[in-house]
Amino acid sequence: MQASKGFLAALTLTALSGAVQAADEVVVYSSRIDELIKPVFDAYTEKTGVTVKFITDKEAPLMARLKAEGENTPADLLLTVDGGNLWQAEQMGILQPLDSEVVKQNIPAQYRSSSDAWTGLSLRARTIVYSPQRVKEGELSTYEALAGDNWEGRLCLRTSKKVYNQSLTATMIETHGAEKTEEIIRGWVDNLATDVFADDTALIQAIDAGQCDVGIVNTYYYGRLHKSDPQLKAKLFWPNQGDRGVHVNLSGIGLTKHAPHPEAARKLVEWMTGPQAQSIFADINMEYPANPAVKRQPRSPAGVTSRPTPFRWKSPASARPKRSS
Ligand code: FE
Repeated sequence: MQASKGFLAALTLTALSGAVQAADEVVVYSSRIDELIKPVFDAYTEKTGVTVKFITDKEAPLMARLKAEGENTPADLLLTVDGGNLWQAEQMGILQPLDSEVVKQNIPAQYRSSSDAWTGLSLRARTIVYSPQRVKEGELSTYEALAGDNWEGRLCLRTSKKVYNQSLTATMIETHGAEKTEEIIRGWVDNLATDVFADDTALIQAIDAGQCDVGIVNTYYYGRLHKSDPQLKAKLFWPNQGDRGVHVNLSGIGLTKHAPHPEAARKLVEWMTGPQAQSIFADINMEYPANPAVKRQPRSPAGVTSRPTPFRWKSPASARPKRSS
């Protein structure tokens, strides 16, 4: 009799601890590489005791998996780069409103979905990089001007297969219309010094090596390269300061429609938009915090000492899910 009571008590305890464990866990589907997000989740676990489980894959399979899993999904959150991907997840109906006053206070409206389906976490500036040996800063002005005759045989570009140039092109279509944008892109292609590059890092190195004079890259690739080689000669330039500003993309996060732990997930997102996580997030990959109250370190002498002028976020219709960091 006594043994049976003990057995029941043990069963109850097991059930209770199971319930507690479930509530103290958040599951994230992430298209960001592990090294960039693990420190953020580790810091959260250390602070709160909540376990953050995550799996990493490309955006498209993760979104297809969420859609297929439906109500049975173990995932609470979807973490991606490029607002185009988050917009697409929103269109697929696999997200639900974050509904958090904390997130709304931490992140400006232009870095969040207007339907509250996702919030931006960090800003990724795609800007002009140039050789200070062969280009005077005064010769540079806008992305569009790189189509001019003066850049003939001097421009380097990354492939258009990557979502980054697709999103940049989408903002130009939004600004100038498709016809004018095509004219600009043709001008860029005419000015190419060499074949397009597979990645931004190789492009920056080509400028340093004298293969081309000017190009377009995401600033965190410049930051990484500058960290490993402080002698890097190439410099960054913020274009379009007279109109829409530097092209900025977002990494962000959304609450899945059938999240098993919506409250715990919401708390994690709130923390990820706050000072500690924003600093870790931005510093590890040299991105800009989406929370404007979080200060970042100036990176002299790289030229990345001020925040790029953010444009008002509009979902790029042309963006397609692609592998990104
Ligand atoms: Fe990247």
